[in-house]
Amino acid sequence: MPLFPDSVGNRESLFIKLEEYIASHKASSKCFALLLININHFRRFNINKGYQAADTLLTAFSSRLEALSRVQDYVARVGNSEFAMILPEVHNEGHASLAAIKILGNLKEPFNLDNEKIPTTADIGIVLFPDHAEDTENLFKKAELALSDARKNNQSYAIYSSATKTIGSNDWNLESELQRAIDKDQFELYFQPQVFLNSGQVFGAEALIRWENGDKGFIRPDIFIPVAEHSGQIYDITHWTINAALWLIKNWPKTVKPLKVAVNISTRMLNEPEFVEFIVSAVKIYDAEYDRLTLEITESALVEDMSTSFNILDELKSLGINISIDDFGTGYSSMAYFKNIPANELKIDQSFIRYMLENPMDQHIVKTIIQMAKGFDLTVVAEGIEDKETFDELKRLGCDIAQGYHLAKPMPQDSFLKWLNNYLVE
Ligand code: C2E
Ligand code: CA
Ligand code: CA
Repeated sequence: MPLFPDSVGNRESLFIKLEEYIASHKASSKCFALLLININHFRRFNINKGYQAADTLLTAFSSRLEALSRVQDYVARVGNSEFAMILPEVHNEGHASLAAIKILGNLKEPFNLDNEKIPTTADIGIVLFPDHAEDTENLFKKAELALSDARKNNQSYAIYSSATKTIGSNDWNLESELQRAIDKDQFELYFQPQVFLNSGQVFGAEALIRWENGDKGFIRPDIFIPVAEHSGQIYDITHWTINAALWLIKNWPKTVKPLKVAVNISTRMLNEPEFVEFIVSAVKIYDAEYDRLTLEITESALVEDMSTSFNILDELKSLGINISIDDFGTGYSSMAYFKNIPANELKIDQSFIRYMLENPMDQHIVKTIIQMAKGFDLTVVAEGIEDKETFDELKRLGCDIAQGYHLAKPMPQDSFLKWLNNYLVE
């Protein structure tokens, strides 16, 4: 019996497929992504458990990748513990990151080999055609560089870019630049509105951090937040974002209806013993109402350590703070935890929203999450809505709140307040 299904290629067939995709995408001026996925500690597993178990794990791993892929995607095994995926429908870095997050989220569920649960993690390097390279060899080389950056920086996935390429190297030390940004107050909060799907009224806004680093321009949060989480600088950054959000809540213009403001919280913060005290004292200093503040915590991080996180979130929720579970659907959580989920809100992950009109499976997931959430009295937010058709479909499915470029992109505070003043319900 062959170890891998026929549809899983090897290095040679991957290169042939890459040539094909390069030709077709060049003709249509479209972008595609190549992901290199490496199973961590595979060598150790091989030594401890033997070749047969290692082969079984590889087969199970490739089946998972196959199950996650869409019809037009291509999966190949390209090294001992290394797989590649070509995603021809992925057109930008955001999509590619979501694909990587989806894969990593899926791997949270251990493999079941001979009735033994084998937890597995992986690192992913991402490269985009034609943004990062235009030929097979360079695409592969740069995907390997991105993979090694992910590994070096404890990031689990990394997109090839001049920034990721140099993280940790001498010419640009992101950690020390971040420290300078913290000291010099170089951050800004952007705000993206959220509206009720039914009435069109504004519900609130999500605060998203922006860092403009002089000559390097804007550095994306999904590049520097993982570095800050790793270095511990996330504490200072989160303190800054909470203060900035509360400042806006307190200085809300009298002419605009008061709204909820949502701040993203890394789960690492939930391990800080004084986190609840910090929030309580910050809200008091600004004399703000607890229910104006929402804390967003990603589901994948939450399921990693449910006992601690749930207790802290329960405490915050009992104060009246809104708790929102971000990127819902990627955390590989079980239905059972819904019973005790310490949240008021679920935010369906963008990856399901993006293709829901074309992909019946995604639509089914979205529908199921909405129905389930209703049963538990949770507000459902859909983010990443880029067009009216998706907006209308979500309304039909009974989703509560919408967020996405279709309504507005995240914007600086002044523009956001102007937007609110000019916003008219259709
Ligand atoms: P997230 O919390 O899932 O935030 C949503 C991301 O989707 C934002 O990217 C937003 O700009 C983008 N987005 C919103 N609507 C659309 C849409 O219609 N189409 C597309 N393609 N994208 C849309 P952003 O601001 O780059 O943030 C990326 C991630 O960085 C966030 O994902 C969050 O995990 C993290 N992040 C951002 N600000 C903070 C922060 O202050 N603290 C922490 N800990 N993490 C943050
Ligand atoms: Ca968020
Ligand atoms: Ca999200």
